[in-house]
Amino acid sequence: MTGTRIGVMGGTFDPIHHGHLVAASEVAGLFGLDEVVFVPTGQPWQKTERAVSPAEDRYLMTVIATASNPRFTVSRVDVDREGPTYTIDTLTDLHRQRPDAELFFITGADALAQILTWRDSERFLRLAHFVGVTRPGFTLADGHLPEGAVSLVEVPALAISSTDCRDRVARGMPVWYLVPDGVVQYIEKRGLYRSGPVPRRPGA
Ligand code: ATP
Ligand code: MG
Repeated sequence: MTGTRIGVMGGTFDPIHHGHLVAASEVAGLFGLDEVVFVPTGQPWQKTERAVSPAEDRYLMTVIATASNPRFTVSRVDVDREGPTYTIDTLTDLHRQRPDAELFFITGADALAQILTWRDSERFLRLAHFVGVTRPGFTLADGHLPEGAVSLVEVPALAISSTDCRDRVARGMPVWYLVPDGVVQYIEKRGLYRSGPVPRRPGA
């Protein structure tokens, strides 16, 4: 289809939470997006200081969380690519799969700030429009951003982070209503984020 407008929401999603979903939904509404593709990372290079849950668990939680929304889909491009995930590869792969679509890369204010340090930012901006969303604790600064290529959007503030969700599970505190119900159940079923080693997936 020509002229399809596709949001791209990349993240570690360890676990995916309602902050991610509200941000994607809000940007989809404001920009008239036909679809938002959630793209869980492979082995994330930014987060080497902690053990990240297996990509397959993060992928499945993302599928569970987005299943009820007909405009939300999940892509395996980063999970299936060898090596660490770089946003340039994500956008290049999605562009190759959907050459006629206009891509809108949705990212939090914290991550957007790093655009300024991305060496390839010119290549990025040819592949996608960038949408920076607010999140509590981070401010949006558009001072040095290239004009026309980046939009800043205020989303309803949800003070939820994956870090806090993991800490809660480790402390035996609930994550109900911070993440979708199916994700609460998946975390429990797989024993994710409890202190101690993450159990192996059956057959893995
Ligand atoms: P962690 O605490 O492990 O860093 P996270 O909550 O930041 O996890 P990520 O998977 O790192 O989640 O985030 C993916 C994207 O979603 C990032 O661009 C991030 O800025 C954005 N994001 C995360 N939480 C929120 C939120 N509550 N509101 C808006 N955007 C968010
Ligand atoms: Mg983060």
